[in-house]
Amino acid sequence: MTQQIPTRLYLSDEEIPKNWLNIRAYMKDKPSPMLHPGTLKPVTEQDLEPVFCKELIKQELDESSQLIEIPQELQDFYRAFRPAPLIRARFLEKVLETPAEIYYKFEGTNTSGSHKLNSAAAQAYYAKEEGFTSLATETGAGQWGSAMAMACAFYGIKLTVFMVKVSAKQKPYRKTLIETYGANLIPSPSDTTNAGRAVLEKDPNTNGSLGCAISEAVELALTSKNSRYVLGSVLNHVLLHQSIIGQEVKAAFDKYGIEPDIIIGCAGGGSNLGGLIAPFMALRLQGKSKTHFIAVEPASCPSFTRGRYAYDFGDTAMTTPLIKMMTLGNAFMPSPSHAGGLRYHGMNSALSKLYKDGFLEARTAQQKDVFEAAIRFAKIEGILPAPESAHAIKAAIDEALKCKKTGEKKTILFGLTGTGSFDMSAYADYNSGNMSDYIPTEADLEKGFSSIPNIPQNRS
Ligand SMILES: *Cc1c(COP(=O)(O)O)cnc(C)c1O
Repeated sequence: MTQQIPTRLYLSDEEIPKNWLNIRAYMKDKPSPMLHPGTLKPVTEQDLEPVFCKELIKQELDESSQLIEIPQELQDFYRAFRPAPLIRARFLEKVLETPAEIYYKFEGTNTSGSHKLNSAAAQAYYAKEEGFTSLATETGAGQWGSAMAMACAFYGIKLTVFMVKVSAKQKPYRKTLIETYGANLIPSPSDTTNAGRAVLEKDPNTNGSLGCAISEAVELALTSKNSRYVLGSVLNHVLLHQSIIGQEVKAAFDKYGIEPDIIIGCAGGGSNLGGLIAPFMALRLQGKSKTHFIAVEPASCPSFTRGRYAYDFGDTAMTTPLIKMMTLGNAFMPSPSHAGGLRYHGMNSALSKLYKDGFLEARTAQQKDVFEAAIRFAKIEGILPAPESAHAIKAAIDEALKCKKTGEKKTILFGLTGTGSFDMSAYADYNSGNMSDYIPTEADLEKGFSSIPNIPQNRS
């Protein structure tokens, strides 16, 4: 007898996962190690210690622990906004007339509005445990800065957020939210750091970039007492924290006997996608499932689908360790017309490796199609999605319509990473017809590729 599946799949207190899942522990072929940019040798814990919290470094370099227990105090904080709703999209299924079952995991119910709080909470927790009194970070679109501001307020840690100048102007309410939670927000580039001053000297009217904001935040952390730097995507420890998303879905699916055929996530640096698929990819890697995984990225910033698999820097100032990843080159700049987030040049190293090894499909979506899908979803299911999340919606609708053609009753799961409440200017552009699509030319991409460092490891 099949159990009636509710529209919202709840978990009881006992069923809530208490562990993160480390996908690298299940990979037979491990991702290539992070390299020290000076020596080109694999980085050690000591190399990273001046910049990151100790426990986060351990997690970053840990390729063998399958499960890592979430500290009790952090589990308690998670309970303020988790489990995140897991919802059967019954209305959408009906409108699409698809035999497919569609589920989505909605990470946008907390005030910061996205999944980023899952890692922000963990990073602020470890900083407090290790006795640090201040943290520095950067934010592009503002979600990460908001999440860190919330987490630092909760744990009583001073936070400085370098926000890309153009975003601070375009998203004034993100700035206010970050400041309301008590963080110090500095539009980047600023005259408060050497890195910022150098950029301003060359171009006083620059819009700023994520790469420059990273350099400013790292500099502040290195030059302040009792301070560390935190990052909200791309790195392995961030994916580890985000595995709480997939762990909750897995617990709920097991409870109701659901097995996903297709799992879809949008991909910027890869943290929500890596977190959502973690337990399901672990099964696939052990030969215990045939689940198909799809990453969706903007056509204007196609790291997976048109990038190179190479060692590259995480920032434009070329100061971070080198990461082997799918990359467009650290100097790649998406077209200014791109509104939908997901504009990072590289992709998490484990996901990049899984992609190269054929365990993950990647596809692109153009932004007008993404906004069309977003608004369609909002009207049918009620939730106005973040433009980033709508990349996954677009692919989920496409897959459900394929099932309509073939008559297959597939189970589709996608990650709805956040709400669009702070993205009104992008929605306004779409509504007024002021949004355009841009696909980079080969020449545009070559410019980015030329910034990939010419080291022996990239020449074989
Ligand atoms: C940051 C963000 C993303 C993309 O980041 P990933 O690290 O790739 O997950 C997607 N959706 C929302 C709402 C975000 O804030």
